[in-house]
Amino acid sequence: MAKQDYYKVLGVQKNASADEVKRAYRALAMKYHPDKNPGDKAAEGKFKNCAEAYEVLSDAEKRQRYDQYGHEGLRGAGMHDFSRMNVEDIFSVFGFDDFFSGIFGGGARRGNGRRGGAAKGFDLETSVELTLEEVARGTEKTITFTRQDNCGACSGTGAAKGSQPVGCSACKGSGQVARGGGFFQMVSTCPQCKGAGRIVGSPCKSCKGRGKVPTKRTVSIKIPSGVHEGQGIRVTGEGEPGRQGGPNGDLYCYVKIKEHEFLQRDGNDLVAVVPISFTQAALGATIDVPSLEGTERLKVPPGTQYGSVFRIKGNGLPDIRTRGKGDQLIQVTIETPAKLNATQQSLLRKFSELENNRVSPQSRTFFEKLKSQFGTN
Ligand SMILES: [Zn+2]
Ligand SMILES: [Zn+2]
Repeated sequence: MAKQDYYKVLGVQKNASADEVKRAYRALAMKYHPDKNPGDKAAEGKFKNCAEAYEVLSDAEKRQRYDQYGHEGLRGAGMHDFSRMNVEDIFSVFGFDDFFSGIFGGGARRGNGRRGGAAKGFDLETSVELTLEEVARGTEKTITFTRQDNCGACSGTGAAKGSQPVGCSACKGSGQVARGGGFFQMVSTCPQCKGAGRIVGSPCKSCKGRGKVPTKRTVSIKIPSGVHEGQGIRVTGEGEPGRQGGPNGDLYCYVKIKEHEFLQRDGNDLVAVVPISFTQAALGATIDVPSLEGTERLKVPPGTQYGSVFRIKGNGLPDIRTRGKGDQLIQVTIETPAKLNATQQSLLRKFSELENNRVSPQSRTFFEKLKSQFGTN
């Protein structure tokens, strides 16, 4: 799930104004709109990427976090999961669905009838970072994220206490106005109510008439042992509030796994690369190897070759479904001494003289093969 640079996605400069960002997004959203590219999955992907970029760059707080820390900075920022949303819902996140519906023939109004009745709230997406030790045991994590909750002061209507939103007079509550006449009638968002169909006379002070307030949420998530990078855990009902009494959306928490200093994961196996000295390799030795518990003893037999792999059964990670355990694999590398003192040198010279008379079987076959290949004697 490599993420692209949001500025590049929208084709704007780093210092682009909010207005430039909005214009760039609208232009791209129109270009890649699924209604204009029926059945084109690539266009749909681009359309959703643009929405994601716009969500970040149009929000001062998210943009600042992104500028400072990149994609990492958006962890827990309460990003929408656009991949699971339909077009109408994506636009409605940004509050200008009707801008497009005018162009695409009422796109925002067809389909799920969200204006008519109750609808589930938007899903949100966040991520959690785990160590390999936590993957091995399973864990419970506390996640803090921000979501747009209904304003408590006005119950989400946006109108100040004692007042009610009234139907917009310019569009008679439809949110759209028609311009021009006859054949080429253009339908566009009502400028007076910005497509909402209602006007809030005296806006609620707490939410400035938006009806929504960013709310910090803290939830505890149980994560089963054996999870893999990129797996998502659904927390039901922790997404944004539903419309007109509909249920909340869900929160999807995606797993990221921190790099371990010594161990690499290969499925349910753990792999460690451990250097040993050439004398240990030749003579055999018992060495300490890193494991999830700290260290593990491993017997390396005499005559161990570079790259040999040893297996400690059941020392890996649990399988998320079968609960069976993976193994730990230890691959040895052999270090050639870089510095030898006089005694070591003279001992090795003696060894090498002996070696000339007693070539080890493996290298003999190697040199014999070489000879037969090139016809030397
Ligand atoms: Zn309010
Ligand atoms: Zn209106």
